[in-house]
Amino acid sequence: MRAQPKASHFIDGEYVEDTAGAVIESIYPATGEVIAELYAATPAIVERAVASAKRAQREWAAMSPTARGRVLKRAAEIMRERNRELSELETLDTGKPIQETIIADPTSGADSLEFFGGIAASALNGSHIPLGGDWAYTKRVPLGVCVGIGAWNYPQQICCWKAAPALAAGNAMVFKPSENTPLGALKIAEILIEAGLPKGVFNVIQGDRETGPLLVNHPDVAKISLTGSVPTGRKVAGAAAGQMKHVTMELGGKSPLIVFDDADIDSAIGGAMLGNFYSTGQVCSNGTRVFVQKRIKEAFLDRLKARTEKIVIGDPLREETQMGPLVSRAQHEKVLDYIEKGKSEGARLITGGGIPNDVSGEGFYVQPTVFADVTDDMTIAREEIFGPVMCVLDFDDEAEVVARANATEFGLSGGVFTADLTRAHRVVDQLQAGTLWINTYNLCPVEIPFGGSKQSGFGRENSASALEHYTELKTVYVAMGPVESPY
Ligand code: NAD
Repeated sequence: MRAQPKASHFIDGEYVEDTAGAVIESIYPATGEVIAELYAATPAIVERAVASAKRAQREWAAMSPTARGRVLKRAAEIMRERNRELSELETLDTGKPIQETIIADPTSGADSLEFFGGIAASALNGSHIPLGGDWAYTKRVPLGVCVGIGAWNYPQQICCWKAAPALAAGNAMVFKPSENTPLGALKIAEILIEAGLPKGVFNVIQGDRETGPLLVNHPDVAKISLTGSVPTGRKVAGAAAGQMKHVTMELGGKSPLIVFDDADIDSAIGGAMLGNFYSTGQVCSNGTRVFVQKRIKEAFLDRLKARTEKIVIGDPLREETQMGPLVSRAQHEKVLDYIEKGKSEGARLITGGGIPNDVSGEGFYVQPTVFADVTDDMTIAREEIFGPVMCVLDFDDEAEVVARANATEFGLSGGVFTADLTRAHRVVDQLQAGTLWINTYNLCPVEIPFGGSKQSGFGRENSASALEHYTELKTVYVAMGPVESPY
């Protein structure tokens, strides 16, 4: 199987190669095969991409927001027309089942382009401030060249979630996908050009943790939006702070999902499974600490085990497959290590716990795994695993579970299942997280803001609020009379 792109980078409207960069192998996670070879950006490629973005940004910002929006909306249409092809590429890039990518990946990227294309004309207005005779006005102006750095779990969605608001606001972008999933963003760059985007406004360069800092530290870069882990976030935010650059940090989590004993138990199990097993558990907002009230714990576990054991694991390109492999060999080892830690630290293994027998080949597969009797101090309850490993903890009362749910450095998301809506609102009000769900989990339509608090980051993606993170206010004071001066 091959998925070799025309070249590694897309700069100034065309594919560009520089074979002097380190080789990046694109590996299909379901088989371990190398399906493409790309080259990491050299300093010369980074220069070329930033220079192209800098030049193109002025022209792009000078266009009316309506005209910019039209390009983004056309790109959304093209993505939808090519959904199958883009979804297959996303499956090759990530190993996620086609059943998922066809409904959740290019389509959510297209939603973002459509949404920001649609609001560009109305959401970038400034204000008029009366001051008696004098007056002032504000303008919402783009930042300039923005850098997007992506994680590997939703490559096309992450690319669009960053590009769409940045471009709608009149910025240009240089996007660096994760070295594990280099393919999808190149297609989005191609589609934007086809939709009428001026050359250079959106550029893609490849690279890893060595390349990222070249972009972050570049003097012509005004803003960095990172989706990645907390340790990477600390490095990038630290470097950006030294140069007073804007940042958005979409980082990791260890989110609580609380199930009270009056909840619709099947719905709560469905939410917990979606919030732990979708995308083979590689979702930042996953509710990986499932707190179940003691009275319903064993019933919850029985039904959860039965439903988990029916999950169809296997070839991600087959329509019936519900769970594919993890993204890489390194992630596979990491998740299996966490499973062993769960066992050795005394958690009760309900189901899963290893590599599935019925999946052949060299793919990075792991069974959907449920641990019960997990305690707050266990490694699997404290650290982000980023794989299909659900930890079930139990609790007696509301005050206790809220305190335990908040006892983490992370603050990305959280959820509550209960039939008592007063309690639901009271509990989410106390949970320290950026995005919370009541009686569902992990739904992130583009209309609602998404992002974290505490160590999970800051800034928001999606919704009109994302535009605030890609613009700044310029204030103009207008004097209507002569200057009154004591001198
Ligand atoms: P990672 O932190 O290893 O890498 C993220 C990106 O940063 C990659 O493109 C990588 O090349 C780049 N990078 C690494 N070091 C860098 C540096 N010093 N300077 C600049 N760039 C650098 O994360 P990952 O393993 O790709 O993704 C998994 C993590 O992402 C998890 O922690 C997950 O929770 C998080 N995530 C968060 C969200 C969110 O929206 N909050 C979404 C998806 C994933």
